[in-house]
Amino acid sequence: MIARLVGALLALALAAPALAQEAEPEVTILISIDGMRPDYLDRGLTPHLAEFRKRGVAAAMRPSFPSKTFPNHYTIVTGKRPDRNGIVGNSMIDPVRPGQMFSMGDPKQALDPFWWIEAEPVWITAEKAGLRTATMFWPGSEVAHNGVRPSDWMRFDQAISNAQRVNTVLDWMRRPAAIRPRLVTMYFDTVDTAGHRFGPGRSPELDAAIAEVDSRIGDVVRGVEAMGVRANFIITADHGMAETADTRVIQLEELIDRASYIPVETGPYAAIEPAAGTNERVYQALLKPHPHMACHRKEALPQHLHYGQNPRVAAIICIAENGWTILSGTPPYPVKGGAHGYDPTHPDMHALFMAFGPSIKPTPSLPLFDNVDVYPLIAALTGFAPLPSDGEAATLAPLVAR
Ligand code: AMP
Ligand code: ZN
Ligand code: ZN
Repeated sequence: MIARLVGALLALALAAPALAQEAEPEVTILISIDGMRPDYLDRGLTPHLAEFRKRGVAAAMRPSFPSKTFPNHYTIVTGKRPDRNGIVGNSMIDPVRPGQMFSMGDPKQALDPFWWIEAEPVWITAEKAGLRTATMFWPGSEVAHNGVRPSDWMRFDQAISNAQRVNTVLDWMRRPAAIRPRLVTMYFDTVDTAGHRFGPGRSPELDAAIAEVDSRIGDVVRGVEAMGVRANFIITADHGMAETADTRVIQLEELIDRASYIPVETGPYAAIEPAAGTNERVYQALLKPHPHMACHRKEALPQHLHYGQNPRVAAIICIAENGWTILSGTPPYPVKGGAHGYDPTHPDMHALFMAFGPSIKPTPSLPLFDNVDVYPLIAALTGFAPLPSDGEAATLAPLVAR
């Protein structure tokens, strides 16, 4: 009797590791490399990404308009274009809050849920579905939605090094399965920063940033695999980068007096709100043909931009020709290096997309697709029901091997 019991326990103990491993759910790790163009992979600087692409897929992805950081990060995690997710710019105004401006560098506004609750990001939907999430930075991840937050989240701080970000995620993965996050986000800003300063062409600084992020991602993937955790990785960028120059500048103040409008955003595109009572003057000055810039009433923007319905979109949107810069007065920085925010159909604005892991089929190539289509893939891999979105599940469903 005792021998049989011991035998049974022994059999159970021997079977346990195999059983436990089988039962452990896969993890989704969503990584953003801000400003990472797909052609940066062709520079011979990214041995880890080159290896991971062979295991899965790498492709070019079209961002949403405006091709800026906050709108596109929120698009990726909500499946809704900026016009429908509420983050219509890195800077924006809302008629409900006259006199206030959202700007990503102003924590009082950037951390106010008011701006973010028009759409629900993946970590909130997953938490509500009982799946634990953890965010090692992502625009919007620091904000509670009706009291719900990622189980672990971090206040954005550029001074936290890429290596620290990697170690934080590895610590989360080291936890027992019961408290290990099922969905993790990570964010690297250094490639975008170097792209702005030195432009998207070859420079030792941008090359170094690309190579460093490649090696950090190598550290995460290898670290996770060494623990035996089964993880599917999705690597995305929010937008690309175009070369700018101080010889390619459009000065709004030469077209219309400064007092008559509020420049909500300037640069590759400009969001312009007429100051009270000056509407007609502003419309007349801007809504005519200009070299290197096209201005539209928000109601009449080109269809492919899917933009202009949201009350937060300023009355007039001017879009510069790729590589040109729209200014209002003298900017606090020199116009040189690189910028983004242009029409997302321009190849310079295209963003890197990669996926690999136990549930991703090796796929040699993918046609260009819209970044809203990543959302249904995140939901499918992580195992929660996606909310209605602008994304087509069918675009990336063929990648999933289950
Ligand atoms: P952009 O101006 O569109 O190039 O935005 C890129 C910058 O956004 C990065 O250099 C970061 O400093 C900043 N950023 C990224 N994530 C956050 C965040 N969660 N909170 C505040 N700023 C952020
Ligand atoms: Zn960005
Ligand atoms: Zn940027």
